[in-house]
Amino acid sequence: MELERLRAAFPALQETALERLSFYGDFLAGYNQKVNLTAITDPEGILVKHFEDSLALLPYLPEEKTISLADVGTGAGFPGVVLLIARPDLSLTLIEATEKKLRFLELLLSHLSLSAQLCHRRAEEAGRDPAFREAFDAVSARAVASLPVLSEYCLPLVKPGGRFLAMKSMLAQKELADSRRAIALLGAETEKQIDYRLSNGDARSLIVIKKISQISSKYPRPTSVILKRPL
Ligand code: SAM
Repeated sequence: MELERLRAAFPALQETALERLSFYGDFLAGYNQKVNLTAITDPEGILVKHFEDSLALLPYLPEEKTISLADVGTGAGFPGVVLLIARPDLSLTLIEATEKKLRFLELLLSHLSLSAQLCHRRAEEAGRDPAFREAFDAVSARAVASLPVLSEYCLPLVKPGGRFLAMKSMLAQKELADSRRAIALLGAETEKQIDYRLSNGDARSLIVIKKISQISSKYPRPTSVILKRPL
């Protein structure tokens, strides 16, 4: 992936970060020929739909201290690995249910000389484990599940006072309306919704949900129940 193009797209990033993104783009496209990780494989698509979209989260991560971020259903590393490239001080945990994606992430991070905790589990299982429950300053997720379901996957992982950053596309407004009860039951409240456009014109929404209080021991429920009866 051309460094010049990356420099023009992300002028605020340092050269090391741009070099890492360049490697990431090439490595993802090459690996994807053997193992299906993403439908977007052309360099411009990776730059805009994966890198630019992931970086849209950057202003919503607190800057003042090393923060712990869990990226749920990270897939080939979006937005988590891109955020780590931009903010190598992040304490990042990548939670992903599919093993082949973790193998890719392990190799990628080793080539990039970056480290993150890799967690091969479903988020809602991690949310019942004391080591992960209410352990993170921020939890992100993009393209994993509808917001009522995703809230029960992600909010148990967020510390009281921390934030859940849900990256959504067109249906954000409707999903948010359908999630009000779930968000309240999970001890949280919606802080804001930010609508933005990628440089190719695609509409996106970021929903910022603040965890207010400790979560009831009832949640998260088993996966089948979450899916059958969303809160
Ligand atoms: N976040 C990435 C992105 O935006 O490119 C990947 C999106 S992909 C459509 C959804 C990913 O979420 C898949 O890799 C899937 O294995 C993972 N996933 C779905 N439900 C999950 C859960 N409950 N816990 C952990 N991972 C999950």
